[in-house]
Amino acid sequence: MKIGKYSFGVGDRFSHEGVNQLKALLKAKEEFGVQFIPVWNKSNREHVIVCTEPGEVRKEADAAVKALGYDGQYFVDADHINLGNVDRFIDASDFFTIDVADYIGKEGTPEEKFLPAIKEAGKIYRHIAAKKGADNFVTEVSMDEVDNAQSPEELRYILKELAAEKVPLQTIAPKFTGRFNKGVDYRGNLAQFEKEFEQDLQVIAECVKEYGLPDNLKLSIHSGSDKFSIYPIMGRLIRKYDAGIHIKTAGTTWLEEIIGLAVADEKGLALAKKIYAGALGRMEELTVPYATVIDVDTAQLPSALEVEKWDADTFARTMRHNPADPLFNPSFRQLIHVSYKIAAELGDEFYPALEKYADVIGKEIEDNLCERHIRRLFAL
Ligand SMILES: [Zn+2]
Repeated sequence: MKIGKYSFGVGDRFSHEGVNQLKALLKAKEEFGVQFIPVWNKSNREHVIVCTEPGEVRKEADAAVKALGYDGQYFVDADHINLGNVDRFIDASDFFTIDVADYIGKEGTPEEKFLPAIKEAGKIYRHIAAKKGADNFVTEVSMDEVDNAQSPEELRYILKELAAEKVPLQTIAPKFTGRFNKGVDYRGNLAQFEKEFEQDLQVIAECVKEYGLPDNLKLSIHSGSDKFSIYPIMGRLIRKYDAGIHIKTAGTTWLEEIIGLAVADEKGLALAKKIYAGALGRMEELTVPYATVIDVDTAQLPSALEVEKWDADTFARTMRHNPADPLFNPSFRQLIHVSYKIAAELGDEFYPALEKYADVIGKEIEDNLCERHIRRLFAL
């Protein structure tokens, strides 16, 4: 299988928003003339925390496609899998993100640092291919969940060896320079990001020719959502090099669900507040799995008592990623980002609320993906 040039990872925690996410991509096509292929991604970590099965993501994707009469390509991504957990994803998924970050060494020559990870990627790829059939899925290799960024030269080594290992990867997710905290903007040196992103694009084009990798090989940005300041840079450079791109966002949709609840009515607002209060009380537990990708400043977190007094507008503006709004609070937003476990535990209260307020929530989700994310790539 061959994935098209532009694709967007639109996984969502609770598999409720497939239609709204697809609507956003269709709207983006109308507005900017660019067809993003939807890829519904969900990691094993998310499945474990929410207690869901990969088959539910497949159902969500199929239902969304059917509901909107979409006749283009779409995929279901087994996100960040390894040899230990990939088997439960084999049937439902047709896109596999092979995560070999744990096999990357902290120092040494490129060979010492990366070869064990590349060998592992080969092993996992062959395992999937044996079970699924090599022509029935798209392969991504991810190396983003590590402390140190990979330089363009290191990317060249990685691609060369992945080609030697015969992994037909179509997307690669390196760790880029700077911080990609969940649900908030990029933090780092934008000029450095731009330089390395451009070099990465050149390296990919060269490696495709030199090592016979798939000709649609493209960068995959595990954005952690909402990296608004790098979107125009990426947009400009992929056009300059006529390159494709895969952008993964997932958590951003769950954040919009909370905003939707907050603005829907009094009951919805009360539920959003309850989730925040629950998160405050269990901050340690919730933030540990995401320690490397969030920066919550606890001094900036309002008390549950204070939030209790807020009206819908205050809650929404505190959450909504509008950097120009003085009420916007990145620490509040990041804490909510990792607190979907609380919502999952409130299942009987939470899931019906997603249904009840589907219209309000849907509008938030569509606007967020189309207007705040994709617009920044293509409509300058
Ligand atoms: Zn990732």
